[in-house]
Formats: sequence, structure tokens, C-alpha cells
Amino acid sequence: MAKQPAVSVQHVSKAFGSLQALSDVSFDIPQGEFFGLLGPNGAGKSTLISALAGLLQADSGQLSILGADVSRDYREARKNIGVVPQELVMDPFFSVRETLAFQSGYFGLRNNDAWIDELLEQLNLSDKADTNMRKLSGGMKRRVLIAQALVHKPPVLVLDEPTAGVDVELRQTLWRFVRRLHQSGHTIVLTTHYLEEAEELCDRIAIIDQGQMIALETKDDLLARGLGSKLLIRAAHDITAVPESLMPKVTRQEGRELELVFNREKDSMMDILDGLRGAANHIEFVSVLEDRLEDVFVRLTANNEAQR
Ligand code: ADP
Ligand code: MG
Repeated sequence: MAKQPAVSVQHVSKAFGSLQALSDVSFDIPQGEFFGLLGPNGAGKSTLISALAGLLQADSGQLSILGADVSRDYREARKNIGVVPQELVMDPFFSVRETLAFQSGYFGLRNNDAWIDELLEQLNLSDKADTNMRKLSGGMKRRVLIAQALVHKPPVLVLDEPTAGVDVELRQTLWRFVRRLHQSGHTIVLTTHYLEEAEELCDRIAIIDQGQMIALETKDDLLARGLGSKLLIRAAHDITAVPESLMPKVTRQEGRELELVFNREKDSMMDILDGLRGAANHIEFVSVLEDRLEDVFVRLTANNEAQR
């Protein structure tokens, strides 16, 4: 029998009043994958994560964590997943260690001190163990939330924009920590709108926009997808009157420079240069700019917008 997926999301929809936050979203995440969930603000990422954590009920569809349905087998599902929420919510009156001990109690874990110590150590929180939560900086609180999500040793860890607004150093520390977890066999789901983060860390990436999945591919496929690269053309003189046929491809036109979408599989560079002959006398320089995930993302979400 094939291994259970770590996370399974099947035909999940959720509306808030007239706002459709999720529309028929489906995907599976195999065990051990580092999965990126990308999308602009308001795309529905946190809604999906709340549904996975069993904090919010979907209107329709199924969600399960390692085979445990999040509503029917709530306890089992909850044991399998650790969620680091986007918002810094916590009880200000307890110390770091107390917070983690209470969280352990919630999972029925009585003697969890050794693991708590290890988490504190790994997240550089040991010297803050007895500090009250309200005295911690935002970055420190973020680390406590991560420790809290891991207190019951869940095989699946979900992080909802863990690096939004944290400084570069903490971001590096968190990346290193999460990478180690992944190497030790955890399935990681990372929500982010820092594209370079997804590009650096994730094996496979889903892009959601306005509640709809608009892409689900390996990072490499996403980058290579005939969405293409860009062509940068520089002429000796200002480029004027670009022919009608090329206009839909133009992403930037400034003085002597022109940037166009260039799909290696479909477009002919010669045809493009031919077409430009009148508009750009004496082309001095032509270069293919490689796409970055950011470009792909912008184009995909823009397409989604255009289709509405
Ligand atoms: P993301 O995390 O991708 O930024 P969210 O899942 O937080 O997006 O939000 C998706 C959409 O649902 C947004 O338009 C947001 O305003 C709306 N939304 C989220 N939670 C609620 C709620 N509890 N009540 C009403 N609308 C909500
Ligand atoms: Mg969010």
C-alpha cells in the first residue's frame, strides 16, 4: 500500500458570508515533503491552515493529516500536526516554560521537560525560559510559538508566514531550524509571501489566489514552465512605435530599452527582432533574462485576475 499522504486536502470550500475564501481546493502533500503555499494577501492561506488545524470548519470537502480526518478524528489529526499561527497570540501572564508546559498538558504529556529543554536550546530561548511572555520581543515570541507548535512532536509542521516582519538574523535562524526538522523527516508546510524563501526552501509549491489554486508544481517546473523568460532589447536610439502584434508581450518600455515576455518553446527571437526592425533601429544588445519565482508568481496571479 502506498504511504498515507502527510496532508490531504480534497475539494475544500469555505465562504465568509458572500466572500468565497476557498473554492474547491485540492492537493496532497506526501510525507517528508517541504511544501510551499504561496499567495498574495487575502488569498485564503490562513483560512486553509485554520481548517487543517481544526480551528475552523470548511463548508465542504475533506481534510486529513496522516489519514486522520480533521473533524471526524479530531484528536488524532491534532496530534499529527503542529501549527505556528500567523498572529502572535499568547497568554502574557505566563513564562516561556509555563506556556510550553501547559501546551504539553493539553496533549496529555506530563513529563515533557527534556523535550521542552531541547526546544528552548535549539531555538536559542534557554535564557528566556523564566521570562514572562509579555516581556519578550516579537521575534522571541515567534520562536516560542514555534516551540509551542512542536511540543507534542508532531510529524507535520505548518508555519503560517513565520518570517513576516522578523529581522534577517532571526529569519536565518528559523530557516536553519526548519531545515533541520525537514532533514530529520518532518513534513513541512510553509506559507510565505517572501518568494525567495519558497525558492530557497520548498520542493513543491502551490499558488493560491482569491481562494483558488492556480498552480501546483515542483519549484523547478514552476520556474521552467513555458511561462518563459524575458527578453531585454537595447537599441542605439529610443524605441518608438512597437508593432501592435508585440504589444501584449511588452513588460517594460523605457527609452532605448524594451523588455518582453519570451517563451522559449513558442517564440522565435528572430521573429521578434524582425518585428521590431522599424521601431528600434540599430539593436545593440539582446539578452534573455531568466525568470525568478517572483516573475512567475506575478504573471500567474495577474492572469488569474484577468480571467475574472
Ligand atoms: P491569507 O492568509 O492568504 O492572507 P486569509 O485566509 O487570512 O488570507 O483570508 C482570506 C479571505 O477571507 C480574506 O478576504 C479575509 O478578509 C477573509 N477572512 C478571513 N477570515 C475571516 C473571518 N473570520 N471572517 C470574515 N472574513 C474572513
Ligand atoms: Mg494569512
